[in-house]
Parts: sequence; structure tokens; C-alpha cells
Amino acid sequence: MKTAVIGAGIAGLAAAVRLAAQGHAVEVFEAADGPGGKLHQFSLDGGYRFDFGPSLFTMPQYVDELFELAGEDPRDHFNYVRLDEVCRYWWPDGTRFTAPADTDDLVREAAQTFEVSEPAMRRFMDKAAEKYELTGRTFLEKSLHKIGTWLDPQVAYAMLKIPGLDLFRSMHDVHAAAFDDPRLVQLFDRFATYNGSNPYKAPGLLSMIPHFEHHFGAYLPTGGMYDITTAIYELGQRLGVRYHFGQRVDRILHTAGAGAQVKGVRVNGKDIPFDTVVCNMDVWLAYDRLLPQANKPGITLKQQKSTSAVIFYWGIDREFAELGLHNIFFSRDYASEFDKLEGGDLHDDVTIYVNVSSKLVPQDAPPGYENWFVMVNAPAHAGQDWDSLVRNLRDRVLRTLGERLLPALRRNNEESGNLEDNIRAERIVRPPDIESLTGSHQGALYGSSSNNRMAAFLRHPNFSRNIDGLYFLGGSVHPGGGVPLCLLSAKIVADLVKVP
Ligand code: FAD
Repeated sequence: MKTAVIGAGIAGLAAAVRLAAQGHAVEVFEAADGPGGKLHQFSLDGGYRFDFGPSLFTMPQYVDELFELAGEDPRDHFNYVRLDEVCRYWWPDGTRFTAPADTDDLVREAAQTFEVSEPAMRRFMDKAAEKYELTGRTFLEKSLHKIGTWLDPQVAYAMLKIPGLDLFRSMHDVHAAAFDDPRLVQLFDRFATYNGSNPYKAPGLLSMIPHFEHHFGAYLPTGGMYDITTAIYELGQRLGVRYHFGQRVDRILHTAGAGAQVKGVRVNGKDIPFDTVVCNMDVWLAYDRLLPQANKPGITLKQQKSTSAVIFYWGIDREFAELGLHNIFFSRDYASEFDKLEGGDLHDDVTIYVNVSSKLVPQDAPPGYENWFVMVNAPAHAGQDWDSLVRNLRDRVLRTLGERLLPALRRNNEESGNLEDNIRAERIVRPPDIESLTGSHQGALYGSSSNNRMAAFLRHPNFSRNIDGLYFLGGSVHPGGGVPLCLLSAKIVADLVKVP
């Protein structure tokens, strides 16, 4: 069976491996000049390496599984460390909390820092685990759009339990009911941003997300996140996958009318026949550009996009001992920050995420220096004046980080001054850049948002309802965005292709 994969994002790479392992002759067409999509890497002058997008790695077993399928030992090709601490949180009132990875430690240390009892913390984490156990495997690992899924007794059981799973309350309401301390509410609300959603709208079912980090763990590949891309890409090469970089697909070829069948792809004006086509391109753009004659699933394609981001990649000329690998600097008013995002704007006081991979991967920055990935959630791109927004944002980010980090340096009698003086190299990426660099509609990081309780059911299926032999995967379709879910989409597609 000849199979084309459009896009070498993480889902496309994983699907190529799975399908090659199933015996398909797989060719991957990628518009960019290398693999990875949002998970590519680049360098800045002065010896700084950066992962372009993802920085938090959970569920590494989904990568390991690919090697096992191919009969290889993952540890021969791909290694990662489990983090002891998952994130350092900073609040404007001076509170700081380092969240331990282990659930028992988290429960104990949260009770020492916040106004919460250990039993209340424990109840919350147990509920997160229960939500995952009931729905995670069922709804994330299978196609929601095949009747077979709904005949599964596990699914029927999960459906019966839905009233107790907080589908009808927002994440924020769940957290506000569980905790009196607003800092803890904000900490858990933040997990909505893991799929680009708004905690004041996303269903409370998603308060299972901390369970991924604190039960299954948070990890970092030993050479940085880009190791994931390299490992899966090279595994595909060993399995005989043929990759064509710098080759943008212009059309998905198919017959017309009822019972339409996929015929292949058009690349650089040339029609290339394939029996199966697997599309890792953002689904909105795929219908718009590659499938102009096909029926468009209107409701699905109109779903609100996930948030995008403004990212400052900074090569810093000193080390900040107070920073860890993952750091969050919270804003004062989370609700109004999300209101602004919903209105397509940026708040004056934003929450700032700082990732410093050189803390664990020393070769990512020169000795004594650090590589800062500084990310602020931004609305999806809809023609805003990004130059002006980003100019203001940069000033505010520098001021906030300076206010919180530099006093500590002054106390230690180290040199202080302006944080800007420590920036040796810089790159800025805005939502329209994310759109053009990674082919993501409106620069959304995670496809569509989960800002309504039907979101999970309204994502595009992993197959075409109108064209046989055409499949979809990646962050813009079921089960959603983020590296683990993209890897699962590849698994679902490989299963669907195997059993038509
Ligand atoms: P994409 O990465 O979207 O790649 C699609 C590929 O298709 C691209 O390479 C594109 O060039 C190619 N393509 C598009 N059109 C064509 C065409 N016509 N012909 C050929 N090729 C085409 N996830 C996490 O798990 N943890 C994180 O910490 C995290 N942080 C993030 C931070 C940022 C800044 C960003 C941008 C994303 C982040 N994500 C994170 C989300 C994660 O990166 C994505 O969900 C995931 O990488 C998307 O993978 P994908 O398979 O959907 O493909």
C-alpha cells in the first residue's frame, strides 16, 4: 500500500513510523526544510540553542512505543530525565512555590505554602486521577467518531459517570470550589493553557491535566525537546520511510461525488498517485488549500482557535540561580487577562512563562550563560497590529522579570541594572510568524480551543467522512494539541488505516 503523509510535524512523523511498521511504503512531504513542525530547533549567535515550541514533555511512553513497534530498544536511541520539580511559580505578592513532581510531595508542600489542608489537596489530586482513569484512555486513545468506540463497555461506563466529572462547570469554578486560596486556584487554572484554552470557559473535566504532570511525570529529553523529533525521524528512516523536505503539497487528489476515493497528492504541479493520504497539515488550511472541491465540515472548522503566543528567545549573559527549567510569573488578575485574550488583545499585566533548557542541557548555552524561552499567551492572529503590541509587551515583560529577579541579585551584591543589559541575542516570534512558519491557522498553538463542553466532540475526526483513504492527524484534530495527544492521533490513524 502506497501512503503519503502531508507534513512532518510530530504526528506526521509518528504516523509514518507506525504505517511503515505495518508494511506501507510511506513517503512524507514537508513544506519546511526539515522535520518537526512546531517542534523544530534553531540557534542564535553566541552559542544559544532553542527548541522553537514545546518545552514540557509528558507521557514519554508514547514515543517509546514507536521504537517497540519497530522491534527496537528505545533507550538505544532516545533518552530523557524525569524532573523532580515541575515548575517554579512566582506571584506578584512575593509568594513563591516550587511544585514537586511527586504527588505526595506536592500535597505536603502545598499545604505548607497555601491556605489549604493536606486532605483537601489530596482530594483534588485524587479527583484529577479519577477523571483521567474514567475518560482519558477512552476518549483520547480512540476515534470518537466511529460507532465501535461507543459500543465499548468502558465508554458506556464513562458516559454514566459524566455528571460527576465536572463537564458542566468551568475549570475555574471547580478550582474555586476546591480551594479558598486564590493563589492555588490560579495555579490550577493555568493548566487550561496546556491546550490553549481559557480556564473560565473550559470544562472542569480538564482539571485532570495536573494528573499527567504529577502522576505520570514531567520529563526532558537529554538533548532537549528536539531529540523527540530527531529520534522519530531517524526511526522512520531506518524503517524505509522516504522524506521530501521543501516539498509543499498543493492538492489532495480524489475522485468526485458519493463514495469518493483518494488518488494521491499534487506537489510542485506534479500528480503523484497514492492509495492512502494522511494529512498532518492544520485541518482548516487543508480544506481551504488542498481540498477546494470537498464538502467542508462547517461547525468543526468554525470552532474557536486555541491561544497563540508571543515568544522572546533570549540569549542571556549570566545565570539566574532562582530560575528552574520551567518558571511561571503570574499576573495580578487572571480573569481580566483571559478577558483581554478573548477580545483579541493583550493585557497590560500578563502571565509570563520562562523556560531555561540550559539548566538541564548545558550545551544549550555557553558556560555561565542561559537560553531563555519567554512566552506570553496571545490571541489567535486576526490582523492585530503585532508590531505595536509586541513593542509594549517586551517592555512590560522586561520590567516584570526585572522587578522579580533583580532584587535578589542586588541582595547578593551581584551587579543589577536592567535585565535588557543581559540579553546578548534575541529572536521574537509573533502569532502571524507561528502561522507562516508552522502552517497553523491563525498561529494557534493547539488547533481549536477546549472552551466549551462539546469541544472534544467537535474536533475534526481522524478520517474524512467523504473521501475514502484520507485521514487527518495532529494538533488541529482529535484528540487535540500538545505532543502526547498528537502522538495518540498517529496511533488512532494507524489503527483506522489497518482496519478500514
Ligand atoms: P505541526 O507541528 O503543526 O506541523 C505540521 C507540519 O505540516 C509543519 O511542519 C508544516 O510545515 C507542514 N505542512 C503544512 N502544510 C503543508 C503542505 N501543504 N505540504 C507539506 N507540508 C505542510 N505541546 C506540548 O506538548 N508541550 C508544550 O510545552 C508545548 N508548548 C508549545 C509552545 C509553542 C510556542 C508552540 C508553537 C506549541 C507548543 N505545544 C506544546 C504544542 C505542540 O507543539 C503541537 O501540538 C505539536 O507539535 C503539533 O504537532 P503536529 O503533528 O500537529 O504538527
